[in-house]
Amino acid sequence: MLNMPLEDHAGDIIRKSRMGRGVSAIEVASAANLNPHQLQQFEEDGHEIPELNFEAVAERLTLDPAKLRQIASGWEPHTHDMHQWTHFRHIETDDGGMAVNCFLIWDDASKVGALFDTGWILPPIQSLIETHSIQLQHIFITHSHYDHIEALGKVRQFAPEALLHSNIKSAPKAQQLVPDERFQLGSLTVSYRETPGHADDGVTYVVEGFPAEQPNLVIVGDAIFAGSIGGAPKHFELARTKVLDEVLSLPGNSLICPGHGPLTTVSEERKHNPFFPSAMFT
Ligand SMILES: [Zn+2]
Ligand SMILES: [Zn+2]
Repeated sequence: MLNMPLEDHAGDIIRKSRMGRGVSAIEVASAANLNPHQLQQFEEDGHEIPELNFEAVAERLTLDPAKLRQIASGWEPHTHDMHQWTHFRHIETDDGGMAVNCFLIWDDASKVGALFDTGWILPPIQSLIETHSIQLQHIFITHSHYDHIEALGKVRQFAPEALLHSNIKSAPKAQQLVPDERFQLGSLTVSYRETPGHADDGVTYVVEGFPAEQPNLVIVGDAIFAGSIGGAPKHFELARTKVLDEVLSLPGNSLICPGHGPLTTVSEERKHNPFFPSAMFT
């Protein structure tokens, strides 16, 4: 399986942290030992500039300097061999520019399934459902940003019996998640936790109960990406705290399934995500 590129390069990480913390570009450029034009360029393309002082800029933005440098030098999470998963599929949909991940799980015995976000288009979802004779019973939405729900109307036409669940405050009451709610799909259990920050209605779903040796899934939407977090210029601290408390506190082998970019694990993110300095985990 080919590695998917990271959603964010080191320049994106600096920009997100700078905006989230409300630090001016001039101040960050000066800490980074760059002129403002060089900083702007780095935030756009992430191409390494030899004079960039990672330690000073990371300190100014409370990022982990070693982790930031690793991202700039091409760190990637381990590739996950999806063949080991008999009842879980990662579906990547693309509108010709922005790729979005959605995820399908099902119970082996009953063939009852659940979809997490819809991405842009129905056909890859429909084809998996038909190939595996899945009865789609639930559609779980991580947050209401359009790229994650663009195909929702089509999915619901295709599977009208599937129940819709989200934390979207304007959704009909029956579709709104309630605290401590759990869903059973045969041997699989889906629970959720609130992870606002990137989106007010952001939630993370945890799927447990796969056959032995298969870790739990953590379907996070845009709360966290491999090596980064979702943009949260207005609620940066909330976003970070929620990811730390609700996602990075889960067992290390839990497979994080983000809305963009490659899959990763809780332990890899503790070790490599620059938004969470190593000192937080000691
Ligand atoms: Zn989003
Ligand atoms: Zn997104």
